Amino acid sequence: VGALRNWVDLQKEYDCFFLLADVQALTTHFEDVSQIKTSVEDVVLDFLAAGLDPDQSTFFVQSQVPALTELSMYFGMFTRVVELQQNPTIKEELKHQKDLFYGFLGYPVSQAADILLFSPVAMSPGDELLVPVGEDQAPHIEATRKTARRFNEIYGETFILPEILISDVPRLPGLDMDKMSKSRGNAIYLGDGPDVVTEKVNSAFTDPKKARVDDPGDPFGCAVYQYYRVFAPEIADEVVIDCQKGKIGCAADKKRLAGVMNDVLEPIRTRRAEFAAQPDYVWDVLREGNRRAREVGDELMEVVREAMHIDYPDLADSVPRHGSTQ
Ligand code: SF4
Repeated sequence: VGALRNWVDLQKEYDCFFLLADVQALTTHFEDVSQIKTSVEDVVLDFLAAGLDPDQSTFFVQSQVPALTELSMYFGMFTRVVELQQNPTIKEELKHQKDLFYGFLGYPVSQAADILLFSPVAMSPGDELLVPVGEDQAPHIEATRKTARRFNEIYGETFILPEILISDVPRLPGLDMDKMSKSRGNAIYLGDGPDVVTEKVNSAFTDPKKARVDDPGDPFGCAVYQYYRVFAPEIADEVVIDCQKGKIGCAADKKRLAGVMNDVLEPIRTRRAEFAAQPDYVWDVLREGNRRAREVGDELMEVVREAMHIDYPDLADSVPRHGSTQ
């Protein structure tokens, strides 16, 4: 919710590119690809429903922009394995995985390509390359800056160093107060109907010490309060007082929150259903986005190849065809 709100505002001010990371999904799901296409479609529907506008922003699919693979390959040439092994996300994931795969180890390299492919080709004063992510992503952006710096040192000034653009929307935990994730079933989706939202809110974690309505509670450890902060910040302070003074019970508070959330989500839900009812719309948006991302990427790759001295005249006609007598 924080990311989408932020992006909807940013698209008015910046040239925004939103990447659907289907290749990155393979780093952990290469054996089960059944959900990839539907996930891409779902994410685009969420983007559109939340107000991202394909006339203002570019949505594209990672696998459909070959320049990303090429750039990632070049970056891999000067990235040390030991640095990848020290990457905090890789280290953390390795605790849960028994095998370390080449693609997974290298994903910070491909992430650097995902960002730097959109570095402006002809840099003008004031140009910026911003990555609007949460603070927890800072180490990734730092790794990408390192890659850009190293490339510039070896091959000459080519990439602008990306900066992190942190959103001020509070981070929303899952309904169980753990990190939000699909596999834990602790998230509310933009496509969820009103009854599902109410049911999910009813399952939210609250202060276990507040058993009766008039027991004083601790709102700060309660998921319901965290959701008020994001969805109805204007009444969040009142929730704190009512909870601490035992003026409201958890059941009533959840009922009120479900109402607030359904009011916020209803227009988004309606828009999402309208887009979903046009079966080709998402793919048309992606077709145009892929085309634009390829165009921008191809332009940058010409500069990259030239810097690396692997730019050649068009050799297509000089290579003898198989079986040719010439
Ligand atoms: S009253 Fe509200 S804020 Fe307090 S613990 Fe219950 S649900 Fe959470």
